Amino acid sequence: MLESIDHRLRQREYLLQISRAMTAQLDLVSVLSLVISYAVEMTAGTSGLIALYDEDGSDELRIRASAHLSREDWPAFARLLTLPLSEIPRRGEAVLREIAADTGLTLRQMIALPLVLRDTPVGVIYVFRAALNVAFSANDRQVLEDFADQAAIAVFNARLYQGVLREKQRLDATIEQSADGVMIIDSRWRIVTFNKAMEHLTGWSREEAIGRPCAEVLAIHNPQGVNICLVDCPLNRLPYIANPVVEGRIVTRDGRELFVQSRYAPQRGPQGQFLGAIANVRDITAQKQEEELQNTFISVISHELKTPVSIIKGYAGTLRREDVTFTPEQYREGLAVIEEEADRLARQIQDLLDVSRLTAGGLRLELTDVSLPLLAAEVVRGFAATAGERYQFELRFPDDMPPVRADYERVRQVLNNLVSNAVKYSPEGGTIRIGGWNEQDFAVCYVSDQGIGIPPEEQEAIFRRFYRVDNRLARETQGSGLGLFLTRAIVEAHGGRIWVESQVGKGSRFVFTLPLGRRKLVDLRRPAEAERASSGE
Ligand code: ADP
Repeated sequence: MLESIDHRLRQREYLLQISRAMTAQLDLVSVLSLVISYAVEMTAGTSGLIALYDEDGSDELRIRASAHLSREDWPAFARLLTLPLSEIPRRGEAVLREIAADTGLTLRQMIALPLVLRDTPVGVIYVFRAALNVAFSANDRQVLEDFADQAAIAVFNARLYQGVLREKQRLDATIEQSADGVMIIDSRWRIVTFNKAMEHLTGWSREEAIGRPCAEVLAIHNPQGVNICLVDCPLNRLPYIANPVVEGRIVTRDGRELFVQSRYAPQRGPQGQFLGAIANVRDITAQKQEEELQNTFISVISHELKTPVSIIKGYAGTLRREDVTFTPEQYREGLAVIEEEADRLARQIQDLLDVSRLTAGGLRLELTDVSLPLLAAEVVRGFAATAGERYQFELRFPDDMPPVRADYERVRQVLNNLVSNAVKYSPEGGTIRIGGWNEQDFAVCYVSDQGIGIPPEEQEAIFRRFYRVDNRLARETQGSGLGLFLTRAIVEAHGGRIWVESQVGKGSRFVFTLPLGRRKLVDLRRPAEAERASSGE
């Protein structure tokens, strides 16, 4: 009796140890090894093993842990594993003898119990004895059942843990590969996860960012330059807004200025307490620039179109006054202004049409042989008549300059734009020179002036749509910032290039190239399609 109480106490002690081990370590094999060692000891066995079915639901058992059996002996037990539990009473002993013969182990008796988890068999626990004299009792079976329950729970926990781990790895990989910046913050607003896109976006490395307050790493500023994340943290709006969104500027660690949008999804505990949040951050700089461009477009265009219209209206209104008598000279001058402004209006409308066609990809080139010296002379004649005495125009082309293969009207537009700019941005006057030479398959042509010049950092930007250098002169002179954009598009559609060489205060030289020789008809912006169209496909 005493012995039995002692036995039960020890068993309880072991079960306690196993459950401690289970909470301390979720490694399945370690817990199973403990279970089988104690089970063997408690049932006075000599050895034992635990075999589990694979998680994918196959009915094949695999040994996962053993007590007092070396791993080399495991294969010999394969024939036991294929034996259904119901067959054990009848054929178990014979199988055991075969295994004993193979391995040289003394195995005389066996007790086997299924490990069942929520009515699903997950494996089998086997205990062997070397002695024949005492048979396994009902008590032994009970002991083993208790251990089997523990083993089943261990399997359940470990599989759950493995599943969570796998899910977490998958989630980590998804977050890491996400094209958007993803940042997870804890309940104290500190960064705990920071993906690759986030590193790229902010210039902060993951190692540096993790553990820091998110308002420091992603400092989103409003137009007034205030760090929204510090003074009006979007997460404070959580009680009122489920998924707050903020937009604003950030300066990256490597000094880039970006416009970002950050969306927050809160994570909550079972009682609704705030556990942290996931922030999804996107670079919307390009989108914002496009929006700004649209706004500039509307303000610039309305201003540019309104100016000639009001001049025309003003002159027309004055000339038709009946209470004033005008001299024929005054009439002529007034009508000349009206005509000039109407032409300007027409040019601007044409520019706008060209830009919209260009954006839609449908501006066609009619290619012919064009003599640049003759075309340049024609353009200069037009300007020389109106530009005033402060400007001298010079043409510098070699006599044997071969023709270019180009759209006459479009090249005239290019030269007109460049010469018009040369005049516009040379308030003191000076020499405006148009010249060229040929270089292998290309003609090189330039328009130079002695005007205000363009700072080096602006020399690429001036070719962008609506871009104007922000200086006094540009503010005072009329212009929409479309001229050079169109000029470049036309030159590039011909297969040429355009660039500017300039020094502030000294002047600028715009240089472009156009191909010599015969070329096919091409569409602006859609060279491939135009090629197909002209080859009759
Ligand atoms: P717009 O003249 O209508 O403003 P453009 O696209 O022709 O538009 O030119 C863009 C900007 O480039 C101008 O606003 C001006 O600041 C600068 N720019 C162009 N040509 C010259 C030049 N010859 N000298 C100095 N600045 C120039």
